[in-house]
Amino acid sequence: MSAPGDIPNGVAKGLKHLDLDGHDLPPSPAPSTPTNGRKYALATELVYTESNDQFNSSSTPIYQSATFKGGPGQEYDYTRSGNPTRTHLERHLAKIMCAKRALVVSSGMGALDVITRILKPGDEVVTGDDLYGGTNRLLNYLRSNNDIIVHHIDTTNVEKVKAALTSKTAMVLLETPTNPLIKIVDIASIATAAHAANPKAVVAVDNTMLSPYLQNPLDLGADVSYESGTKYLSGHHDVMAGVIGINDEVLGDRFFFMINSTGCGLAPFDSWLLLRGIKTLSVRMEKQQTNAQAIAEFLENHGFKVRFPGLKSHPQYALHWSQARGAGAVLSFETGSIALSERIVESTHLFGISVSFGCVNSLISMPCRMSHASIDPATRKERALPEDIIRLCVGIEDLDDLIADLSQALVRAGAVRLTDNGFQALSAEEVEGESRSTVLVMDG
Ligand SMILES: *Cc1c(COP(=O)(O)O)cnc(C)c1O
Repeated sequence: MSAPGDIPNGVAKGLKHLDLDGHDLPPSPAPSTPTNGRKYALATELVYTESNDQFNSSSTPIYQSATFKGGPGQEYDYTRSGNPTRTHLERHLAKIMCAKRALVVSSGMGALDVITRILKPGDEVVTGDDLYGGTNRLLNYLRSNNDIIVHHIDTTNVEKVKAALTSKTAMVLLETPTNPLIKIVDIASIATAAHAANPKAVVAVDNTMLSPYLQNPLDLGADVSYESGTKYLSGHHDVMAGVIGINDEVLGDRFFFMINSTGCGLAPFDSWLLLRGIKTLSVRMEKQQTNAQAIAEFLENHGFKVRFPGLKSHPQYALHWSQARGAGAVLSFETGSIALSERIVESTHLFGISVSFGCVNSLISMPCRMSHASIDPATRKERALPEDIIRLCVGIEDLDDLIADLSQALVRAGAVRLTDNGFQALSAEEVEGESRSTVLVMDG
């Protein structure tokens, strides 16, 4: 896979471990280097596992056991502390995430809980202003109950981030692309600045929107890469999981201490489901982002304001492609009117109304009404989150079917005006007329 357009190949930041030649990572759980010494590419590593199973099972067995018999010194004794299915998954993920160590827990928010437990009262956190709703909620809790000082900054502006960094900055928490505004954050520059302000600062990147298939925050200078395994890694919306990747051994041990102490390690069956999902990550992601690119272009060509890093019109297109290998499959667009957006969302058939993303099925939502509803309206306004924004999470369905579904929804919702060669988004004045007539209808 290569960056589209004008981004020169191979010069991108953070692609040191570019997967054309594979990478030098711990085995998962057995060495995966072919005999001639050439390293496997990521698409191969995703499906390749070699285990020392006593029956040579092709699928890693589910060790559905809370305890393991035997005396002290044996590898496993209690599943809260360790389980062979979970270990297999963790080693497999470490390789895929370009991490020395990976840990898996019961959800993405569980991962952030583990990470933020290293914070002490008085510590400062510098983070974004377009965060995942759950992340925002947890940070608010830490602020009100644990005396953690949280600075919400527009992290797309490195200078603003620098101004907020001090020797008291204990953690920098980034998401890129953000969701649903699809803003891009310069991981490498911010990581460098954070470590300059405080060498002990932990830079943690939420990589959920792209997955390790498209972006490796650790290669860009982050200390922690974490993500919700509920999304792309598992891919079928049938399991919840959280994944943490680290290179620093001490940090890894501190996180493991928390997981063992609180018991949030991923259960054996869920570990197995996640292992199964990871095998198809490359085919799913390739298809999903190809579909997403076509849909983003379709909407843009019909006059909508679309946010997607695969579009040249994205203001941070070059930055995105300097640190990622793909655009992902989440995009958002605006209609100018909450009522119009609501009607569009209600008029699709293939795009299911649902929070979340990363699933093989296409989804549609209004973040202000759903995933981001936990952010109060005043804060949403302050952070310029348009109330009418529609988020599309594109799946692996047939592209023509998806575009036909979206087209009929736009027409039925009255979001477009018919033209000689198809349709076009309404102008601002037309949108205003639409909203007014809606109000009239509703009043009547
Ligand atoms: C879903 C999500 C999370 C939380 O993950 P869960 O598995 O739902 O707990 C965190 N960050 C982002 C960006 C997400 O999309």
